[in-house]
Amino acid sequence: MTELEKALAQHVAQVRETMQAALRAAGRKEGDVLLCAACKTQDAQTVLASAQFDIDLFGENRVQELTEKLAAGAYGTKPVHMIGHLQTNKVKYVVGHAALIHSVDSARLVDAIEKEAGKLGVVQDILLEVNIGAEASKSGVAPAEVRALAEYAATKPHVFVRGLMAIPPTETEPGQARRYFAQMKTLFDKLADAHIQRVSMDVLSMGMSGDFESAILEGATLVRVGTAIYGQRHYATLSGTII
Ligand SMILES: *Cc1c(COP(=O)(O)O)cnc(C)c1O
Repeated sequence: MTELEKALAQHVAQVRETMQAALRAAGRKEGDVLLCAACKTQDAQTVLASAQFDIDLFGENRVQELTEKLAAGAYGTKPVHMIGHLQTNKVKYVVGHAALIHSVDSARLVDAIEKEAGKLGVVQDILLEVNIGAEASKSGVAPAEVRALAEYAATKPHVFVRGLMAIPPTETEPGQARRYFAQMKTLFDKLADAHIQRVSMDVLSMGMSGDFESAILEGATLVRVGTAIYGQRHYATLSGTII
């Protein structure tokens, strides 16, 4: 193994251990949570190196990275999800390629996905992104409007709602995120209990490197972990300088 592979193997094992401990603490079944490796800014070689370890799937934020890494075969045999904000004009590069789109937060975006999926003759699985902290700067639909958006998406034959996703506010106080995760779980259960035709609540996507443990304690079924697997991200500017 290369040094990179050794480091990735160790990081993934640590994340898995923490996941299992949280599942046990919550009285949930082992393997009840999917591990999504959030690999934004990581190059194809690094992503492919990580694909051999105990990761269930990959998550990308930017359409361009998704397209490039798919072409490079960076995900190996594992699925990739779109977890970042998606503009309607980029939908055509994602539908049919991403097994799940986590960031759907408007009827307009649902329409664009429906149109593209219809063209391809596929049904695109999506999650509705909830702005659980009611932050003006964040994308996501307000908790009170999730049900209406789910019902709207359910009328589209080439779109299927599989659950909810959230990125809670970055809080300084530990334990704050957990309250948002609990609110998400309540919302998730309420929608499941509503038994809306062609809407299923299978996936509750929440929790990142700093808080995936509390997300699992509150009922996450998929955690999106970047830094704890790959280390600190380096954002390259257009001129190629690392910042
Ligand atoms: C980057 C990112 C993550 C992972 O964040 P880390 O703190 O690096 O684990 C998860 N979800 C989304 C939507 C992201 O953009």
